[in-house]
Amino acid sequence: MPLLATLPLDVLARILTLTADYNTLRAAALSCKGLYAAYEAYPIGINKSVAFNLLPAAVLAPALRAIRVGDELASISTSDNVEDIMHKHDEVRVFDTLLTSTECTALQSRACVVARIEVMFSRTFKDRTSVSSSRLSAGESELFQKALHRIWLFTQVIRHCYVDFPDEVGRDEVADFEWRKDLLYANLSSQDLWEIETVLRWLYVACEDLKAFVDPDYVPIIVQVGPDGFINLFDKEPSEVDEVIPDIDEPLGFEWEEDIRAVLEERKFEVPGGVSRPESAPKGLNPLLQTVFGKDDMCASCSSKIGLALLNQTNWEYNKWLRSFDRLQYLLPHNLVSNTHERRTLTAYFKHPLQHMTKPTPTADTGSPISTLRVLRELFDLPNVVTSPRLQAHMLADGFSSMTPHDWLCPTCLVEFITRHLWIWWWNEKARGRVLGEPLREDCWYGYECRTQTHNFSHAQKLNHLCVNTNEERLAAKKAGTAQGNAGGP
Ligand SMILES: [Zn+2]
Ligand SMILES: [Zn+2]
Repeated sequence: MPLLATLPLDVLARILTLTADYNTLRAAALSCKGLYAAYEAYPIGINKSVAFNLLPAAVLAPALRAIRVGDELASISTSDNVEDIMHKHDEVRVFDTLLTSTECTALQSRACVVARIEVMFSRTFKDRTSVSSSRLSAGESELFQKALHRIWLFTQVIRHCYVDFPDEVGRDEVADFEWRKDLLYANLSSQDLWEIETVLRWLYVACEDLKAFVDPDYVPIIVQVGPDGFINLFDKEPSEVDEVIPDIDEPLGFEWEEDIRAVLEERKFEVPGGVSRPESAPKGLNPLLQTVFGKDDMCASCSSKIGLALLNQTNWEYNKWLRSFDRLQYLLPHNLVSNTHERRTLTAYFKHPLQHMTKPTPTADTGSPISTLRVLRELFDLPNVVTSPRLQAHMLADGFSSMTPHDWLCPTCLVEFITRHLWIWWWNEKARGRVLGEPLREDCWYGYECRTQTHNFSHAQKLNHLCVNTNEERLAAKKAGTAQGNAGGP
């Protein structure tokens, strides 16, 4: 049998055309001299073949178009010629031009971004247990990706004309629905538009969920940062999102998210109001998703039928609010939530678990942040670790004591569960001596219901409020003691 390196170049080139993506192609070409020579001899054909292995043809055309238009827009500092550039790189002609190696790299990286966003979409609408791979069928996946590459193109065009190089003429043009309709949507079928509408609506909502304090008169986040920026923002804390999103002098002067709905209505489709569900479509069009799993599943605690929005440890990490210390510190019961001493020390402990609480500045040896997801898991385990009989009894009474991290809860019940357990977890950390400089102090009679803790910082600091209200019990005991004393009196 001949050695691989001794095969003719065209045979080796044929082998390289079968690689699944450009990373694999690169690794293969660098693995031996023969394969490298084959790539050098036939780069154009190999690059093209791998593009079709990486993406289905229906997805490749809009992806390549978006890359080429984006590159060309990046080379001009004006909003002129946008129409010419868009027409030059029409989807039907996109394969007439040879792929450059820069475009191959861009295709690879865009394919990765789109695949990651598809997993998020899958988790939200198709199957809430989608973890690291999408559960969309091959057909659904193709429709989703095609729509997202087109949205990518639209965001580039709007950002270029409206945000990056705004001049009055360019802005007026983009703000004109007719201009956008001719340039962006006219060549697309109504079915294509419905798929874009489905994905775009969701992206708008998903982006809204990312921001914390962004001014309401803003340019929509998806326009400002594009799909790649959206993925980067998803991993950040809300306050960091604000830092990344630049201040915009001029808010977007039109509601871009209404565009496709308006085009479809002009084409005489009856578009249902509210958020477009991926499993539904106007009469005459097909939905993006053919089937959805677990749509009617119920919350294990309150039995509400919210299916895909249910949460358990499989999907906690994909919900930004569950990963946020800023949010978690407010999930405390009653007046305890207004106890700034407890909130401050709890957050400091989350962020720097080895920090001495009497020393305000964290240093290099104060430890790395505790994962909020670890804390969540520990909350479910609390009944097994808390030694205080009073707190044990308190947990038994709240109806969540038999729940495990495997139980699917609605967001409302999960918030309720955290609010009822997080303070006990915090008590337990202190009771075990883990919180440096913050030992358990004497219990306040009113426990977490104490009103004084909300406005008297030294009281909040001096007494422990991570306990239940024992005041009535104390008064009753006192009364009983007095009565006993009286009975024994003269
Ligand atoms: Zn519930
Ligand atoms: Zn108190």
